[in-house]
Amino acid sequence: MAAIKCPHCGGLMYETLTECPHCRGPVDPQKVIEEARQQEIEAKQKEIKDKDDEILDKINNIYNNEKRNVEDRKVARAEYEASLDMEIKNVSKKSKKVANDKKSIPIIIGIFVLAFVVAWVWAIGVEVKNQLIANGYLVMHLKQAWGMFQF
Ligand SMILES: [Zn+2]
Repeated sequence: MAAIKCPHCGGLMYETLTECPHCRGPVDPQKVIEEARQQEIEAKQKEIKDKDDEILDKINNIYNNEKRNVEDRKVARAEYEASLDMEIKNVSKKSKKVANDKKSIPIIIGIFVLAFVVAWVWAIGVEVKNQLIANGYLVMHLKQAWGMFQF
């Protein structure tokens, strides 16, 4: 035998009675039991729904956190790639400069050698001319050459 609550005064009474022993109100025990069961079911359903909502919230939080992490990683990756590009550009710039420096060394040596040869030939020419003038050969040859045109 179970106890039920009187719907009029809330007092406890046996489920076999049809009249409340406290307030003398008419009671339908079957209806009271059914309503109590209904309330219990609704409370359970609400509890289950709350749990579901809680789990959904947790899943959403995990998903959003993961999404944010993925976005953060994308940004970090883009930054890293940009820095790598910069480094590659710097290295290729440096290697181009080294290649240019290597190219310019033979050119500079060539210019020096050429300048030396020109100066040397010029000095020999001046020396030969001075010798010829000193010996009077140049004057003689010039006179001969001039004479060839005197028909
Ligand atoms: Zn009552």
